[in-house]
Amino acid sequence: MGGAKTDLKLIDENGLRLDGRSPNELRPIKIQTDVLDNADGSAMIEWGGNKIIASVYGPREAYPKHTQNMDMAVVKARYNMAAFSVDERKRPGPDRRSIEISKVVSEALQTAILAEQFPRTQIDVFIEVLQADAGTRIAGLTASAVALAAAGIPMRDMVAGCTAGKVAGQIVLDLGKEEDNFGEADLPIAQLVKSGKIVLMQMDGDLSVEEFNKATEMIDDAIKRISEIQREALAGKYRDIALEEGGE
Ligand code: UDP
Repeated sequence: MGGAKTDLKLIDENGLRLDGRSPNELRPIKIQTDVLDNADGSAMIEWGGNKIIASVYGPREAYPKHTQNMDMAVVKARYNMAAFSVDERKRPGPDRRSIEISKVVSEALQTAILAEQFPRTQIDVFIEVLQADAGTRIAGLTASAVALAAAGIPMRDMVAGCTAGKVAGQIVLDLGKEEDNFGEADLPIAQLVKSGKIVLMQMDGDLSVEEFNKATEMIDDAIKRISEIQREALAGKYRDIALEEGGE
């Protein structure tokens, strides 16, 4: 980020990006539910080159006890990047970046969950990034929301997100890794899908008000498409269950 110098031509003479996408085009997204037997709910998301598993455990009694909230469940998301998930080996364990991402994702999910139904409990969400290709916080959050729904945790609304940014002077949707590294701005946003309420927004770099408005419009529209993929993943889950029951 920050418009670092590169010889890469991020946008070609036809207005296409490094991977051939148009400015408003998402990378391919695939979501699969129930990928882990030992979780209450789980989802694997493949979003461009990102491969991320989100798993949900709970609600269960919050521990240590002083972390309990008498009025609602506490949502604890932990974002972790595997050492092998990036080109240059990442040192294992939490760092400032993963602690920050865990915090903003926890807050976003807390807003979506009907936490008041489960006082004194905690709901753990583990986000494991197996392969990173930019946009992992948003992809992880999008997968977590599916994993929560798959776990049967009541939610007031679905959460989905997307990034937009500025690359070679143009506003584009869903930055790839080179665009994230060498672009001028990166704006990840997540929303409650039905209400449109923003539950996560961060920004790196500079945008004018006009550029910001264009980026948020693109994201708004993309979130509708992404929530459809979430819905289909969950419908697949329930169709599988119906088939199993029908087969008995
Ligand atoms: N990245 C990396 N090493 C790190 C952190 C990030 O190679 O220690 C890469 C990774 O591909 C990540 C991208 O940089 O997806 C962008 O990181 P950023 O902090 O913007 O978060 P993200 O876009 O993944 O939410």
